Parts: sequence; structure tokens; C-alpha cells
Amino acid sequence: MKSILHIMLVFNTLTRRLEELRPRDGRRLKIFVCGPTVYDYIHVGNGRTFVFFDAAVKYLRYRGYSVFYLQNITDLDDKIINRGKETGTEPSVLARKFFEAYLADLTKVHADAVSYYAFATDYIREIASQVRRLLRIGAAYVANDGVYFDISSFKDYGKLSGQRLDQIMHMVRHEMSSSKRNPEDFALWKFTDASEDGWNYKWGHGRPGWHIEDTAITEEMLGRTYDIHGGGTDLIFPHHEGEIAIMRTLSGNRRLARYWIHTGMLNISDKKMAKSEGNMVSLRDAAEKYGGNNLRLFFLSAGYRSELLFDESTLHEAAQNLSKIQSLYDRLKQKDSFGSASIDVPEYKNKLVTAIDKDFDFRSGIMNLLEFVNKVNTEFNNLSENACKQCLDFLLEVDLFLCILNRSSSHEKYDRIIDMILEIRNMLRRRKEFEQSDKIRSMLSEAGVEIEDTGDKVTWRLKQ
Ligand code: AMP
Repeated sequence: MKSILHIMLVFNTLTRRLEELRPRDGRRLKIFVCGPTVYDYIHVGNGRTFVFFDAAVKYLRYRGYSVFYLQNITDLDDKIINRGKETGTEPSVLARKFFEAYLADLTKVHADAVSYYAFATDYIREIASQVRRLLRIGAAYVANDGVYFDISSFKDYGKLSGQRLDQIMHMVRHEMSSSKRNPEDFALWKFTDASEDGWNYKWGHGRPGWHIEDTAITEEMLGRTYDIHGGGTDLIFPHHEGEIAIMRTLSGNRRLARYWIHTGMLNISDKKMAKSEGNMVSLRDAAEKYGGNNLRLFFLSAGYRSELLFDESTLHEAAQNLSKIQSLYDRLKQKDSFGSASIDVPEYKNKLVTAIDKDFDFRSGIMNLLEFVNKVNTEFNNLSENACKQCLDFLLEVDLFLCILNRSSSHEKYDRIIDMILEIRNMLRRRKEFEQSDKIRSMLSEAGVEIEDTGDKVTWRLKQ
């Protein structure tokens, strides 16, 4: 079994320290990141968070960890129901539409590392089981408008956000329409009219509250304690605090997640970008205007914990940097005359991974990459063939997690797909599954690709 020989450091919001990343199980990591509520297109602020976690997970995989990356999809809540009413659409149809849009938007910025999307409405049984258990142990109670978690029952409430329970409990008492015990008690289950979408349980007809959706999904999919929980800083309080209270009460464990990683907010004109602020730029519009690859580099060029301003000049700078990297890649690929100069690629690689190993510092990693690009450019004419290959390989390697290069023309992509199909056909032939391999041959032939087997070698050409 491959082992992890390097040390990765992550900044843990819970302890406010850089800590060595140690998976609970060998080199396997279980990561959960809060996904979107699917009632509208996602904005560039959401994009920043999702792109960061995408790059982080891909980087961990590149460094040898086996990562299961789980995201929840909130597919039923007040926002979805209200938007459904406004537009005359069934909530489930609306949620499906915006989930599809979410995936399409993520594709534009090459964010595709999620292993599994868990829809909240598929976990109602698990949510109800958590409500039932919390009621049984007295950490939850039934009020007039729902079932609530009693925060006074959980002494560590507030630890993640750095607040004391007694301070939270003595916050100015706001008017409460419900018969909650404490203003900050949060809903595990919201009662709704029997005519509205919901589920019947003995405590009443209704829908799940916000935090419990995630704990039910993660308990089922990842267990009671897992490695990393991520999201934007806006979710630390009350959402993540609520998740911790629920799950630790149920498990009795010291931790829900061992490491909490939070991305800083993306702002526009010095204000957090948010649907509620009405200042959002959708990720799809931004990708259309600036280019998905440029946008991805823009997100990754800033430290993930700092706030990031969505402004033209920084976007322009990212585009210029990407054009330098892309142009070197294209020129290296086309280079056909060589000299004797070498490049110390291992040294550049070492600098880059050392930077990123320290709390996913893609910002420094990208700066190292640009230094490498400058160096190769100065030596370009005299590069040896071997150096040229090493440099290309390095750019491709880094692109496994940065995902910013435009790697091939559509023609090259097409060639690669045919090569892959032939590889599968070869495998079948080696296993003497000739019926299947012949089927592939005839399907390719129907699609205009003729293949020729000469001994072990297979060649193909497009039919005229
Ligand atoms: P939401 O759909 O609002 O729950 O957001 C989905 C994800 O995007 C969560 O992880 C949020 O923390 C994150 N997010 C929301 N707004 C921003 C923002 N302006 N900047 C960065 N991340 C954000």
C-alpha cells in the first residue's frame, strides 16, 4: 500500500491553529462540504468556495490520499417553495432544474471532484431518526411551531465560532413568535400546514430544519466523526455550530469533524456577494464574460481564507497570468528543434508542492509556477528535447489540480477518445471476449472509424 511521506498542514477553524493533516484511516480522507440550496443559479461567491474545495480535493488526491468528497444538496426549504410559488413550478421540479444548472456551471470552472451528491429529501428517514433520538435524550423539545434543539443542553455550543454559551444564551431577547425555550434554539423540524409539502411524524407534519439535514446525511454516509468539514465562513455560525451540537450530542464523540476548513467571502464593492443582498453575478455569466479557466485561476490566486474582491483588475491579472502559462504549454507542445539547455524541474516541483502542502497555499504555488514559466521562456530556444518533455509533463501534472489549461484541440480530444475505446477493445481481446471486441469494431465502423489489427498492434483511420 502506498503511504503518505510528506506532511500537509491545514488551518483548523476549531483550534485556530495550523495542524498536521492526519486521516483517521490510513491515507483515506472523508470530506463533507455544504452544497447549495437549489432554487437559483449559483453566484461567483459560491463559485469561489466550490472551486477552492475542488482544487483542494484534487490536490489531496494528487498527493496520494484517497478522498471521498461528499456534498449535500438542499432540495426542499422555504426559499425553494417560495420560488416555486412565484414561478408556478413544483418545488421538486425547480430543485432538479437548478441542480442540473449547478453541475453545468461547475463544469465551466472544471469543478468535478465531488464523489457523491446527497439530496436532503432522500434522507428524511435518517433526519427523523435523529429528531427521535434527540427528543428521547431530552436535548430537543416540541414547541408550538416545530421541534427545537435546546442549546443549553450542549456545553460546547459556540466553540467553533469562538463564543461562550452563556453569552449566546444572554443575547438580547428578541421577540419570539414560537414557544422556544432560548432565542438561539434552532429548529430540527418545522411544522407546516398539512396541505404543504412535508412528512408526517408523531411530533407533527412538517419539514426538516437546516442543520439536521447535514448531520443526518453525514452520519449515514461518513459516520459519526469524519475527517474534514468545509464551507464558507458565513456558515460557521449558526450552521456549523448547530451541526456540531446535534451530532456530538448523539454520538458522545469529542469531534464531529477533526478539521474545519472555511473559505473567506468573495465581496463585490466591499460587500459580501449574496443572493439576499441582490448584488450577485452568476457564475455562468462570469464564466461567459471572463472565461472559465481565467475565473478559476482568479479564485485560486488569492489565499483561500482571505476575503476576495471581485474586480476587473484582479480578473485581468489572472487572465494575463493564464495566457503566459497557456502560451508556454502550446509552444512546448509544438517545439521541434532542440538545443542542450536543461531546467531543474524537480526543484520547481518541490517548491510548488511545499508551498501548497502548507494549508493549500495555491496562491504561492501559482507564483512558483509563474517563476518556472519565466525561466523556461528565457531558455526556450535552447531547451533540450528531454527538458522540453519534462517541462510539459510538469505543466500537465500541476494541471491535475489547478485545471486551468486548455489542453487539446477538439481534434486531439476525438483522437484520444478513439484510443481509449481501442484500449478497452484490446483488453477484451486479451480476455478472449471476441464477440464484444467485434461489436466495438462494427460500432466504430458505423461511426466512420476503420480499424486494422496486425498482430498485437492496432491502427485506425477515418473512412473517406
Ligand atoms: P449557499 O447556497 O448560500 O448556502 O452557499 C453555498 C456555499 O457557498 C456555502 O459554502 C457558502 O459558505 C458559500 N458562499 C456563499 N456566499 C459566498 C461568498 N460571497 N463568498 C464565498 N463563499 C460563499
